Amino acid sequence: MATTEEGKTVFDVEAANVLSKELRDVFASGKTRSYEWRISQLKSIVKMCDEHEEDIADALRQDLSKPQLESIVYELTMVKNSCTLAIKELKHWMMPEKAKTSLTTFPSSAEIMSEPLGAVLIISAWNYPFLLSMDPLVAAIAAGNAMVLKPSELAPASSSLLAKLLPKYLDCCSIKVVEGAVSETCALLEQKWDKIFYTGNGRVGRIVMAAAAKYLTPVVLELGGKSPVVVDSDIDIQVATRRIIVGKWGCNNGQACISPDYIITTKDCAEKLVDSLKKELEAFYGKNPLESKDLSRIVNSDHYARLTNLLDEDKVSGKIVYGGERNEANLRIAPTILLGVPQNSLIMKEEIFGPLLPILTVSKIEDSFDIINSGTKPLAAYLFTNNKKLKQQFLMSVSAGGVVINDTALHLTVHSLPFGGVGESGMGSYHGKFSFDAFTHKKAVVYRSFVGDASVRYPPYTRGKLRL
Ligand code: NAD
Repeated sequence: MATTEEGKTVFDVEAANVLSKELRDVFASGKTRSYEWRISQLKSIVKMCDEHEEDIADALRQDLSKPQLESIVYELTMVKNSCTLAIKELKHWMMPEKAKTSLTTFPSSAEIMSEPLGAVLIISAWNYPFLLSMDPLVAAIAAGNAMVLKPSELAPASSSLLAKLLPKYLDCCSIKVVEGAVSETCALLEQKWDKIFYTGNGRVGRIVMAAAAKYLTPVVLELGGKSPVVVDSDIDIQVATRRIIVGKWGCNNGQACISPDYIITTKDCAEKLVDSLKKELEAFYGKNPLESKDLSRIVNSDHYARLTNLLDEDKVSGKIVYGGERNEANLRIAPTILLGVPQNSLIMKEEIFGPLLPILTVSKIEDSFDIINSGTKPLAAYLFTNNKKLKQQFLMSVSAGGVVINDTALHLTVHSLPFGGVGESGMGSYHGKFSFDAFTHKKAVVYRSFVGDASVRYPPYTRGKLRL
């Protein structure tokens, strides 16, 4: 590690090189492969969550003013659930899977062995700083790897808490934490890893993938995108509205990768939907949502400026039908609904990742498919309808990382489903068994004995052998 003139140590390329070598050595020792090591680390994470629930919720409050309930339900409980599932299923996941053999290899048997990849790098994002660091870490442990975690510098309280707690609870020779921003991440990216698991935006996703290409390192990229909500007219509007609100503002005030980004509905339905959204938003967050304790703040002044810039653009500034209030001093922006924004406005060009929700209108609900498909493939897509045919058309026409019909964001909690993007919303997936698989190599193994040694594949290659 280098030292600055002020005497501060810097995590540079050399330090990253030493760290990656340490992790390679510990992996080569075989320590992280054992069932016992994996289980003990997973149990320690549960213990850490239980013993530091308040500290974790407090760090999330400092970083984002995240409401306690959201911290517990969407970060802590989800991590504990991932551990509990892995602890319960690990023996089964680790077991070789029998595979069929063919006449060509007769007599033989075959199996698929789940092999840990080695030393892996996990880079996480700021919006769910505990969950997005710990969930991939749980996966890498369950799969038997050595690892380094680089939490996001934009959630400094969570990052420093992780750096403090993980060495206390986990095997610090095999599981490292490096705090820092771009230069520290780049130093890590210069090293050879056996897998890189990155959560964040697509611009940095490209940087990660380019670095990985140097060593042909496989990557999981958990990215974002504009996740649409299509609202048909034949629905229970109050239930739909509440579920949209919870997926949007109830998840970190819109700063979530699977937050509804925009709504598409028919011209007839738009007014009813806006009225319902206004009524339910007021019931949830009161008449002055800037004061609500149930809404996170915007993470920092750069993101605040980015979001207010989207609102202030000439093309959309007159389109606000609800909300729009803001307070730069405490980085708060109220839930804001915009109606009739042009498709070529800035707010419709980039992922919003905040409390603004534009509503677009179409003449026929099926026209929404073309609007969605004119952009990049979203991480999530939502449809509210009772129409069976429309559900099928939606599933067939819209490509997205995941789809929920008649709700939002819930697919994230279903552990039997893979969570990940498609196209520009990401590659690879995790959650449940998919997490274990994300950090595992499926090794093909064929067992033969010395009997039945058919001579047909041995030279000389005679015509008679061809006919067999
Ligand atoms: P971020 O700013 O925390 O960046 C993510 C990580 O990349 C951080 O650890 C950061 O240090 C590192 N980084 C930033 N710039 C870098 C650079 N130039 N070189 C190397 N590393 C760099 O998070 P973000 O990107 O603002 O996160 C928001 C985005 O992430 C949104 O697009 C959101 O949809 C997406 N996201 C996806 C998921 C998912 O599970 N698919 C979850 C959360 C967020």
